Amino acid sequence: MLKSQMQIIGAERTAEDSVKVYLKKLKPERVPTPALSSLPPRPPLTHGSPGDADPVYKACVEQCEKTGCVGDKCFQHCNFSSDGKPIDGPWYLQEPLYVQWKQWDCRSDCRYHCMLSREEERQKLGYKPHKYHGKWPFKRIHGIQEPVPVALSALNLAIQFHGWISFFILVNYKLPFRPNKKTYYEYTGLWHVYALFAMNAWFWSAVFHSRDVELTEKLDYSSAVALMGYSLFLAIIRTFSVRLEAARVMVAAPVVAFVITHILFLNLYQLNYGWNMKVCVTMGAIQIVLWAIWAGVSHHPSRWKLWVVVLGGALAMLLEIYDFPPYWGYVDAHALWHATTIPLTYLWWSFVRDDSEFRTRILIKKTK
Ligand SMILES: [Zn+2]
Repeated sequence: MLKSQMQIIGAERTAEDSVKVYLKKLKPERVPTPALSSLPPRPPLTHGSPGDADPVYKACVEQCEKTGCVGDKCFQHCNFSSDGKPIDGPWYLQEPLYVQWKQWDCRSDCRYHCMLSREEERQKLGYKPHKYHGKWPFKRIHGIQEPVPVALSALNLAIQFHGWISFFILVNYKLPFRPNKKTYYEYTGLWHVYALFAMNAWFWSAVFHSRDVELTEKLDYSSAVALMGYSLFLAIIRTFSVRLEAARVMVAAPVVAFVITHILFLNLYQLNYGWNMKVCVTMGAIQIVLWAIWAGVSHHPSRWKLWVVVLGGALAMLLEIYDFPPYWGYVDAHALWHATTIPLTYLWWSFVRDDSEFRTRILIKKTK
């Protein structure tokens, strides 16, 4: 991330003079940025990716949202409301929702085509691709922005659903119940909730990768953070065998407080990709370490599955950290990460099923 940012900043200087005029027309940012002429170059203070901080790109989008055209390509979505008034001002003074959808379409088309034209220019100058709004420049298919990640997100969702259903059938129909009609396995409810978090996250991931607007982006990031937070909580509860309700609440409280604060920060303050990545990687790394140590010290019969998931998860996380631009405009590191999670999820639920059987066996033995 940093290295590519440095290259980009170097590149920006050549384009600077040509964009100064444009910049003066731009609206002031919420985060104040020093004048461009204040060299030496510095990392952009604005949130977002290097691509969308690119002044040429910004000016292009701004221009496009006014005129509805990028070069000689024009978009019908950018025809504003029926009476010809441009749509801005507070939401309660605006036309119905469908016009807002239209505006979203316009913004999305503008961003896409400005990105393509900017990337073409940059490629000619010999620069490597930039990220835009947290994502590499992708080619669309039938209006779907990133077809491969969408398909993989849907597959992940299906695998999560399959894993959850098979777990549900196992604990509710195959394994014996306690005399009070509850399952012997102490973590049943927690895994059900986990499945809901996971399916929710993959659902919004599929939506976000097919249509990237502010709302879908925030829903995707928030759902992913919520899943990360919940699975961290679950990792602590399971690896430390926390069974008392009060103790579980004590673990949940700080995790929930942190995750909610982070989600509010992303949604209401700034969607800072770099910071969010650090938070998610940290939460992911803690879980991986917890499961790895537990797999090492516990004599769980299915610990090899944990080992595979832990190693696979760690390798997959490297893909998220050292990401590369898409091959053929379709498959980037993030898409590959979506692919690796499919077999890992399958194995993960298999471990959960094994765990429920294992605990049930032990608890039945104890009661006899
Ligand atoms: Zn994704």
